[in-house]
Amino acid sequence: MRDVIEIRSDIEFIKEIKERGGETLKKCYQCATCSVVCDLSPVENAFPRKEMIWASWGMKDELLSDPDIWLCHGCMECSEKCPRGARPADLLAAIRDYVYKSFAVPKFMGKALASPKYLPLLFLLPIVLISILILITQDWNLNNLFPIKQGPFRYKEFIAHGPIEALFISGNILIFAFTFWGYKKYWENLKCKLNKPRVLTFWQAVWQVLVDLILHRKFRSCSTNSARFWGHLFIFYGFIGAMISTGIVVINLLGIFGKILPEDMNIPIRMFAGFNINNPDELREFAGLLTKLFGIFSGLLIVIGSLMCLIRRYRTNKQHGKSSYSDMLFLWVVWGVAFTGLLCVVFRLSHAAILGYPTYFIHLILVYFLLWYMPYSKFAHMVYRFLGLIFLKMYGRENKTLGRFYSIN
Ligand code: SF4
Ligand code: SF4
Repeated sequence: MRDVIEIRSDIEFIKEIKERGGETLKKCYQCATCSVVCDLSPVENAFPRKEMIWASWGMKDELLSDPDIWLCHGCMECSEKCPRGARPADLLAAIRDYVYKSFAVPKFMGKALASPKYLPLLFLLPIVLISILILITQDWNLNNLFPIKQGPFRYKEFIAHGPIEALFISGNILIFAFTFWGYKKYWENLKCKLNKPRVLTFWQAVWQVLVDLILHRKFRSCSTNSARFWGHLFIFYGFIGAMISTGIVVINLLGIFGKILPEDMNIPIRMFAGFNINNPDELREFAGLLTKLFGIFSGLLIVIGSLMCLIRRYRTNKQHGKSSYSDMLFLWVVWGVAFTGLLCVVFRLSHAAILGYPTYFIHLILVYFLLWYMPYSKFAHMVYRFLGLIFLKMYGRENKTLGRFYSIN
């Protein structure tokens, strides 16, 4: 007697995937050209052909537990070569979008970030919170708020740093808790289809994925689309640099390093972490300057990298790919955060408070938008992809150009 395979088809899922950019899905006639041309697809159970089949049959559960969607780095080669114009690269992007929504905690945030109709509301929240902080920390001197006279100024005269940091830190703790919960659900979901032996431990896989990420190996093994490689590389390192410089400033403002590091210990760390903008001496000013220059350099990397990615997306032939709403929103917010951050420095150095204060306000809103909505937006790909790639490493599934060929299906 032959085995009976039960296929659960989810019609709503097909509809949603089509709305998110996979509308050409039904054009696919399963020729497998896409899987052949993809440099990142493994030899066995290659993608994206199998995902095209699963999606057109509405096999939602298969796709939500498919780690292969994270091997794809969106070069669009498959869509360009597809003889039917079925755009498999867009389908994989739509499935990744669907993952952000499906594992969001709380659920309504996933829905809010997935649709442009909620965008005004999503911006309204940080606008209201930051406006309240400005109002309660100002001394109601309008000359302070909108100085007509040009001269040196500090952003903390516009909004006190203490409440902003308190809001930032408490918001981030909450978001990290939600994030952890969502990612744990996703990891459990990946494991549910497991039927092959492990070849690496979790931590061995973490280490290998980190090395791949640092060297951007997956992007490099994709032979097309160098603009995307450089754009992503710049954003990646720009973010790491911005996080390091912001971390140094925040830690210093909290006075942690000044208290825990003894005077005679580790001069370079004290130099970078021990400066205090309110209490300058030569060494501290120098360390502060270095940190700021490092932050500016990181910001420039993000601005250039996000612009490269945006230009590439706008120039992509519509027949070969359509960028999703979440892709474009993420790139514009990233670009906006870095660009307004650099403008704030320029306005402060040129003593133009009248331009600096509104720019700083916009900058804060964009920063909070990026960080608070991280687990529900395209920004979440950094963790979902990380988990997906760790899972694939643990079970020895690699792309053609990187080596071992095991199957997990
Ligand atoms: S998506 Fe295009 S290239 Fe891939 S199997 Fe379908 S028709 Fe062929
Ligand atoms: S977009 Fe590029 S990496 Fe992704 S499946 Fe297509 S060819 Fe492969």
